[in-house]
Amino acid sequence: MMEYRNLIGGRLVPSADGRTLDSVNPATGEVWARVPASGRADAEAAVAAARAALPAWSAMPALGRAHFLRQVAAVFAEHAEELATIETRDNGRILRDTLKRDLPGMRFLWELAAGQVLDAVRGDTVILGPDSLGLTRREPYGVALAVIPWNSPISTFSAKAAFALAAGNTVIVKPAEQASASVLRLGELLADVLPPGVLNLVSGMGEDVGEALVRHRGVNKISLTGSTQTGVAITQAAGIKPLTFELGGKSPNIVFPDADLDAATQGVTVNSIYTGNAGQVCVAGSRILIHRSIWEEMLERISAAAAGLVLGDPLDLATTMGPIVSAGQYERVASYLEIAEKEGARLVFGGRTGAEVVPGLPGGYWVAPTLYTVTDNTLRICQEEIFGPVAVALPFESDEEALALANDSDYGLAAGVWTRDLARAHRFVRDLECGTVWVNTFRQMPPGLPFGGVKDSGYGHDAVLEYTREKAAIINL
Ligand code: NAD
Repeated sequence: MMEYRNLIGGRLVPSADGRTLDSVNPATGEVWARVPASGRADAEAAVAAARAALPAWSAMPALGRAHFLRQVAAVFAEHAEELATIETRDNGRILRDTLKRDLPGMRFLWELAAGQVLDAVRGDTVILGPDSLGLTRREPYGVALAVIPWNSPISTFSAKAAFALAAGNTVIVKPAEQASASVLRLGELLADVLPPGVLNLVSGMGEDVGEALVRHRGVNKISLTGSTQTGVAITQAAGIKPLTFELGGKSPNIVFPDADLDAATQGVTVNSIYTGNAGQVCVAGSRILIHRSIWEEMLERISAAAAGLVLGDPLDLATTMGPIVSAGQYERVASYLEIAEKEGARLVFGGRTGAEVVPGLPGGYWVAPTLYTVTDNTLRICQEEIFGPVAVALPFESDEEALALANDSDYGLAAGVWTRDLARAHRFVRDLECGTVWVNTFRQMPPGLPFGGVKDSGYGHDAVLEYTREKAAIINL
C-alpha cells in the first residue's frame, strides 16, 4: 500500500487531522494507495506557504524562474516511466497514452514555459504626447489555484502550474479525489527542486478542501479543468477572482463522403472516443455525424475498428482501451445505456458492462465500446456529456445540416471535420462554435496553440499571459 502526502511549504505532510482517501485501481477495484483527505486547516496552511513564497518568487528575474522550470522539465525526463505507471494504475488511462503521449509532452511543455518567461514581463510603451508617456506592466496575480480532474492529472497539472509559475505566481494544486497519486508523487520529486512554498499540492474532496481554497481571500486566480457543474459552483463561491475554465464537451466529429475514410474511421473511433481514455476525455468525439451517402459504410467501418480494440489491463502496452475511472463514474456511464434504450436509440455494438466485458479482471469498472444511432439530436444521449466509451451517430444530408447539428449543443469545446475539400474545411473552421477544430485529425493538443472552449465548455486557456494582469502608468515628463 502506497501512502502519499501533501506538499506544503516545501515539506511533505499528511492532512492536518490525519484523514486519508483510498485510491482505487479501476482495472481491479482494489485499493492500492492512500492520499490525504485535506480540509480547511490544510487549505489555510497551503495558502500561507504560497503567500510567504510569493515576494521572492515574483521579484525573481524572469530568467531565474526559467532556470527552475527547466529543472522541473528534467525531472519529467528522468521519471517519465515511473509517473506514467502511477497515473495508469491510479486512473486506468492506458499506459500507451500516459507513457508514449502524455509524459514525453510534459518535458517539452515545461521547457516551453521556461522559454516564455519574458512574455510575462513584457509591456507596451505608448507616446501619448511630447511630454506624456504611457506604459503597461504585466504582473502576476499572486497565488494561483489550479483545480484539476482525474482523467489526465499530470498533463492538466503541468498545463496550469508551468505557466502560472513562469508568470511569477506561486501555485496551489488541488488534484481530483479519484486520482491524486501521480501529482503527489511529483510533489515528492519537486520538493527540493523548487523553492519552498512556490508549489503546494493538497489532495482531498472538491467540496471540502477545494471549496475552502476557492473561497480563500489569499487566493488571487483560479484555473479549473473539470465539469461544467463544478465551474458553476466555483463561480458562485469564488467572489471577484479571475477564472479560467476548461470544462466539459459533447464534441461532434463530422465525416464527409470525400474524406479519406480509412483515416476518418481511425479518427472517429480509435483516436477519439474509445482508445482516448475510454471516452473519458473532455474532447471525446461523442457525436459522430455521417453523411447519408456513406452512412452504412461508415457504420460498418467503425464497427470493425471497434472490434479490433484490445480491452484489458491498462498497464499492458498492448491494451488499447482501459476501464472507467471509479465506481461512481461507472454507475453514471451505465445509466446512460439505460437512457439510450428508453430514448429508442438503435444499438450498433457494445451496450455491455461489468465483468463479462473483460473476464480476466472481474473487479474492474468495464464498459464495452458502444455505438448508438439516432436521428434526433435533442435526445439526452446527444446533449449530455456521458464521459465514457459511448458514441452516438447521426446522419446528415448537407453541409448546412451538419453545421446546424454540430452547433446544436450547450457545449462548444472541440470538433472534427473529415473532408478533402479545402474550402469546406475552412468554412467549418470558421462556423463551428467551439474552441478547437481538427481537420482530418483529432485529439491533437500541441502546446503553443490555445486550448479552450466556448458556451458551457468554459473560457480562457492556460497560457502564460492568462496568469498575468496588466497595469497602466501615465507619466508626465
Ligand atoms: P469535476 O468537476 O467533478 O472535478 C474536477 C475538480 O474539481 C476535482 O479536483 C474536484 O475535486 C474539484 N471540485 C469539485 N467540486 C468543487 C468545488 N465545489 N470547489 C472546488 N473544487 C471542486 O470533474 P471530473 O469528474 O474530475 O472530470 C471530468 C470533467 O472534467 C468532465 O466534464 C470533462 O469534460 C472535464 N474535463 C475538461 C477538460 C478541458 O480541458 N476542457 C479536460 C479534462 C476534463
